[in-house]
Amino acid sequence: MRFSLFLRAMVLTASLSSAALAQTEHVNPWSPVNVAPLPPISSLSDGVWLKGDLHLHSRHSKDSSNNSEAKIIGFAESVGMDYLAITDHDNHVQGDVAHNTWTDTEFKSNSVLLLYGAEWTTTRGHGNAFSARPYDHQRLYDVRDQRDIVIGAVKKELGIHLSANHPSGKDHFGFSYDMVDSIEVWNSAVWSKNANAIMIWDDMLSSGRKLTGRGGSDSHHGTPDTPEQATKNTYQRQANYVGTPTTWVYAKERTLQAVVDALTNGRVAVSANPYAPRVEFYADLDQDGKMDMMMGDDAKATGKPATFRIQLTGNTVPGAQYTLHVVKDGNPFKTLQATGGKTTMAEFTDTPQELGRTYYRVEVEGPPTAYPQVPGSTALNGNMVGLSNPIYFNFDPNF
Ligand SMILES: [Zn+2]
Ligand SMILES: [Zn+2]
Repeated sequence: MRFSLFLRAMVLTASLSSAALAQTEHVNPWSPVNVAPLPPISSLSDGVWLKGDLHLHSRHSKDSSNNSEAKIIGFAESVGMDYLAITDHDNHVQGDVAHNTWTDTEFKSNSVLLLYGAEWTTTRGHGNAFSARPYDHQRLYDVRDQRDIVIGAVKKELGIHLSANHPSGKDHFGFSYDMVDSIEVWNSAVWSKNANAIMIWDDMLSSGRKLTGRGGSDSHHGTPDTPEQATKNTYQRQANYVGTPTTWVYAKERTLQAVVDALTNGRVAVSANPYAPRVEFYADLDQDGKMDMMMGDDAKATGKPATFRIQLTGNTVPGAQYTLHVVKDGNPFKTLQATGGKTTMAEFTDTPQELGRTYYRVEVEGPPTAYPQVPGSTALNGNMVGLSNPIYFNFDPNF
């Protein structure tokens, strides 16, 4: 008896010490490893920059006023937009956007690509769905209160791009970011209210999620046809409308599918309005003077320094100073200056770590660009000119 007790004590001691040993030898199976070969980077020149607005409400949203689809699309055509997503609240039509927004006889344009989409308006927050073709939005509406794992499966089956809207504050996005492809980091002309959205974006990026940042005006109110039709919100039309802000995508071609693909891949920049300069962000990996990748692209870090180029394309103010804030892995990294003119750009060099992830992104401040069709927007945007998406190193494409 005593002997067996002794034995048991011995066994217990042994197993305790092996547990202690196991603790010191703990290996985190998720610690950084060399990522498998990454997909090749697409051409930097064989594509087209397209501009649009990804968050708009027409008369099919009950909280809109004087904003028919013809009004929105006609305005977009007049300011040279290339694509639009009219994203009406799906709960205002019990999920049936297919027989409301998309079948409206005004849902057509000769020059503007019209995405199929809606604002998924749920108890736990709002998201925008985007698609190049009609899809069964009703199914997404029906699962809105289900667990994320159910919603994620439906989203995947529908083959849509899902995007988190105005992720902080009222109607914050209370779902897992693992089921979205992008996040609205710039909602409406009021730039200053987006600080928390940017914080969430950086947290998601820093934790390995390759998530595209995009803009959306979220405008609801158009110009009344007669003064009698004016509402208490009509004043908003002068400060927040189509294009405040404007989201640029570098698409392989001028098609709906190419717009959605660019949005998913992250070759995306956001500008204060359609006339403001566009932030382009490139990296030269072997320092041969030729750029090898742009924002949205993911490369394997070599352990050698790379040169990064920030370029403002479009209407810069000649001689004016632009401040370029570089964010690296969620933290302020560098502040550069560029002078407006024919070529407005700046470069810096850094060595992304060979093992583990690194990302860089850029925010640009400078003189505002007038938007005469939405005159009140410039004051609300302040000095915010535009932002880039990140350049990624060692992000796992199968994450
Ligand atoms: Zn919303
Ligand atoms: Zn909205």
